[in-house]
Amino acid sequence: MMSEERSAVAMDGISREEALALLARERREELRERAHKTTVRCVERRFDFCAIINAKSGRCTEDCKWCAQSARWHTGCEEYGWVGTDACVKAALEAQRNGADRIGIVTSGRRLSPEDVDRACEAIAAIKAASSTGVCASLGLVSEDDLRRMKAAGLERVHCNLECAPSAFSRLCTTHSTADKLAVLRAARRLGLDICCGGIIGMGETDEELVEFAFALKEVAPDSIPVNVLHPIKGTPLGEMGVLDPERVVDSVALLRLVNPSTPLRFAGGRRDMSDETAAKCIYVGMSAGIAGPLLTTPGANFDDDRELAVRAGYSVGPRCRRRATARPV
Ligand code: SF4
Repeated sequence: MMSEERSAVAMDGISREEALALLARERREELRERAHKTTVRCVERRFDFCAIINAKSGRCTEDCKWCAQSARWHTGCEEYGWVGTDACVKAALEAQRNGADRIGIVTSGRRLSPEDVDRACEAIAAIKAASSTGVCASLGLVSEDDLRRMKAAGLERVHCNLECAPSAFSRLCTTHSTADKLAVLRAARRLGLDICCGGIIGMGETDEELVEFAFALKEVAPDSIPVNVLHPIKGTPLGEMGVLDPERVVDSVALLRLVNPSTPLRFAGGRRDMSDETAAKCIYVGMSAGIAGPLLTTPGANFDDDRELAVRAGYSVGPRCRRRATARPV
């Protein structure tokens, strides 16, 4: 299907009421089949992979209840300062060898110190010089000025998750807000950077909150939506929560697909807790991209396993010349 046709289909949205009604247990098959048809009609048939490097770990001042890296919880997570340019370049070359299109530099903490911003700019420029890998960054509540400097160094995409429904966020984190996150995303858009924005399912969200989350993402209109499934970490306030029921995982992905018809939905954290059967169902209803290789504090998916599942579902895989997305307001 031509991309214009894809966009035309993508315009044909679903209402909040309809989305909520489709989450009823007895409408599961309908939800999944509609999501599958939307995937086939609207989503580019190329499975996109990226990788990330945890460039600064732990000791975070924030109180996100799901996160092993908050200094408020005793999780035994690895703690270290900025890893250095060489480590970032090495991770980018490894990602490139594995067929990933981009490497994401991810740091813990509310925001980077001015010294770490300098180091991030240096690493971004070094990656661009040494590889053909696109560079993304997930650096907390980064300022527009800092983003401008990083863009000049070669940054292409900014990651900042909404994490969950805006109305539920204060239940899960009190030290920053959805508005803080939207400010980062808007700054990135103003600068013409791509946006990667998703969140975590399995943190006790109701059907209404899942629908609200899906529509909040639609408003942001990201270029990529990472979908994490909570991997409960002992020592965090959500450490004793069970892993989300696999069927609910599939339904959640289907719902996100129906509300965001053409945006790549990306496997992220929690993929390793999933059976290949569940992952294949997720791909059927809308997952079309992945973060493979090591994640932040948990192991990620194996590139080869997910490549095989994607190919079996009819996607092409492998590196490509990256295209620039058209800037849209958030
Ligand atoms: S999610 Fe980010 S901001 Fe929140 S505690 Fe973890 S590292 Fe800190």
